[in-house]
Parts: sequence; structure tokens; C-alpha cells
Amino acid sequence: MTDVFGDLVGQDEAVDTLRRAAASAAALLRAAVPVAAGAPAGGYDDLDALAEEFDGTDADSGPAPAAEADPGAGMTHAWIFTGPPGSGRSVAARAFAAALQCVHGTGCGSCPGCHTTLTGTHADVRLVVPDGLSIGVGEMRALVLRAASTPSGGRWQVVIIEDADRLTEAAGNALLKAIEEPPPRTVFLLCAPSTHPDDISVTIRSRCRVVPLRQPPPAAVAEVLVRRDGIAPDVAEWAAAAAQGHVGRARRLARDPEARQRRDAVLAVPRRLTGVGAAFDAASALIEAAEAEAAASVVEIDEAERTALQTALGAGGTGRGAAGAMRGAAGQLKDLEKRQKSRATRAQRDALDRALVDLAGFYRDALTMALRAPVAPVHTDTAALAGAGAQKWDAEGSLRRLEAVLECRAAIEANVKPRIAVEAMMLALWRG
Ligand SMILES: [Zn+2]
Repeated sequence: MTDVFGDLVGQDEAVDTLRRAAASAAALLRAAVPVAAGAPAGGYDDLDALAEEFDGTDADSGPAPAAEADPGAGMTHAWIFTGPPGSGRSVAARAFAAALQCVHGTGCGSCPGCHTTLTGTHADVRLVVPDGLSIGVGEMRALVLRAASTPSGGRWQVVIIEDADRLTEAAGNALLKAIEEPPPRTVFLLCAPSTHPDDISVTIRSRCRVVPLRQPPPAAVAEVLVRRDGIAPDVAEWAAAAAQGHVGRARRLARDPEARQRRDAVLAVPRRLTGVGAAFDAASALIEAAEAEAAASVVEIDEAERTALQTALGAGGTGRGAAGAMRGAAGQLKDLEKRQKSRATRAQRDALDRALVDLAGFYRDALTMALRAPVAPVHTDTAALAGAGAQKWDAEGSLRRLEAVLECRAAIEANVKPRIAVEAMMLALWRG
């Protein structure tokens, strides 16, 4: 576990995909540049053949692929790493970039190609991390232009875009052009929470290969909390189980008393459902708690972005062209507000979803206890309550309640108004 993929916790499938793609990419480079032959390669003819091979559009007339280049697991010019926050999207993108630049083509972790990529000093790897403001069109155009140049290291030009969900529409279009007609040696690695159209445009999505990252297993998360964060093993185990494998959430639960309080409030829901009125009260409380948590999570970054934009616009002056600048400024402010609003909505959706996942864990515990299944409970601290529920509801009633929570999640995902979906769920949980 000392290679570049060693830091990806519990992502075996994604790592497998990336390893094969890196091997395939290395094989393509060898096929295109026959250094052993001594003859100079055929310049652009070779690169064109490489580009065709790369896209998988021409398997017959291009250079014969090397043995390791599994056609089904091949390379492509554009990738999207998706997964919930904390699942390791940018870790995966950096590791893959390192594997592409690795002189052994494997991501060995110790050669200069791997090392400079991971430390952020490789000349052919560009990392875009939007700090405060979104990624604008000017920055993206410059980036695309530089990315089209020949890689100085002779391998690939790699562009990593973290938080690709924060591209402005114009920047997204500039990127799309590059992805549609990619220079033969350029690879784009995008990171986004999901492939939902709110996060990434449908057209960009359609040009990319998606690498979904999952929430890693609790044991792997607990191990990381102990090893990297110095959290006591028993706390780490509890937090990893309660967070159902989410690295960042487990870390917060282990360290942040407020996060623990919010979770306690959610897990108190089942015993508070004593009637119709109580069900509606519980729905309101859940929605409002999610809104408050979401607001707290975005307030700082919203403020920082507004300040940064105002500072940038304040330098505009009042001379010639000021009117045009003002019109531009209004547009930028509107753009920022629009993005902040959509981020707030997403944060609320995420907070509510976390609460629903906690609640589903409770009814799952009741179900496994009713079935006497030999599995550890998700929530060890409410296991006694879940056991009481299991006796009262039996397996069937526990399953119906679990399904009510999962249906609520699905309804919100399908854009049903959260309050309506949560009220319906609470009534179903009360009636059973
Ligand atoms: Zn290496």
C-alpha cells in the first residue's frame, strides 16, 4: 500500500479502474513513440493515430495496442470523479494524475513523476482549486490553451479541476470545447459531488468517463481516524459505524459535540411519534434543523466570496469605461448570488439527507434485531431502543418504517418539496 492509490480508503473498484486506465495509457505512449526502434516517430501522423486509439474510434488501422492495454478498460481524455464530500474525489484525481506521469506507468509512488505530481510541482499537471470565487471563463480559457501544449515530460498534460460544480456557465462552455476536441496528449480530471445537472452540465458529463467513489466500509474509516487523526479506537469505531462509512462525518462526530447533538435529536424522532400532531412537529423540527445546519456551513464561505468580489470590483475606478465595468459588475454579483443560492439549497439537501440516513440506520437496526440477523447495529447507542421497536413492530413493521425513510429520500431526490416528503414519512412512521 505504498503506491499512489494507498490513500484511497475502501475504493477498490475505482482504484482497479484507474490502475487499468493508467496501464492502458502507458501502453498507448509506448505504441506511439517507439523509442527502441531508433527512428524518429512520425510526428503528427503518430499523434493522430494516438488520438484515434485513445478514443477507441479506430482499433484496426492504428498502432497495435500493447498487451496490457485492455481495450475495455482504456484511457479517455476526460474523467469525472464523483462521490459525497469526504469520499476522496480529489485524492483519487491526484493519484490518477501521478499514475499517468509515473515513469513506470503504474503510480509506483516513488519515482520523480509520481513524487512531483503528488507534491504539486510537476510541470505538466495543473491543479485548479477555486478559492472563494468560482472558476471564471478567462481562467478556463487560459488553462485550456496551456493544456494544449506538448507535455514537457513527454507523457501527458493533466488538468485537475476540483469542485467542477463551481464552473460558471461560460467557463463550462470553454472547457467543453477542449473536451470535445481534445489535444492528443491532454487529460482532464474533474471532481464534483455528483453527475446531477446542478453539479455538472449534461454535455460535459456526456463526454467524460465517470468514476463513482463510494462511502468506504466502517472498519477502514475507523482505521484512518485512529492512524491519521489520533482518535481513540473505541470512539473511532463508534463514529465510523454511526457515520455509516463517511470519512468526514465520522471525524466530525468523533470531535464535534454539536454534530453529536444534531444526531441525537434525529435519533430521538422514533420515540416522539405519539400522534398526528407529534408527527407534524417532528417533520418541522427535522426540516428546520437541516436548514440551520446548512446555513451554518455556508455562511462563512458566502461572506468570503462577497468580500472578495467587492474588493475586486472596488478597484474598477470611475474613469472611461466605468459604465461598462459597472454593468459587468452587476452581472458578476448576480452570478455570485445565483451560485450561492444553489449551494445553500444543495447544503440543505445534504444536511437533510444525512439526517434521513441516520434515521434509516435506526430502523435498519430494528429490522436486523427482529430478524435476529448476526450483524452489528449502525447506532450502538440507540440499540436498546431499536430492540424495543423490533419487539413492538416485528420484522414486517420495522421494514415498512425503513422503507418509509428510503422513500422519503427518493422523493426528495426526485424534487418533491422536502417538507411534504418529510411530513408523509413521519405519518408513515407513526402509523407503521
Ligand atoms: Zn512512479
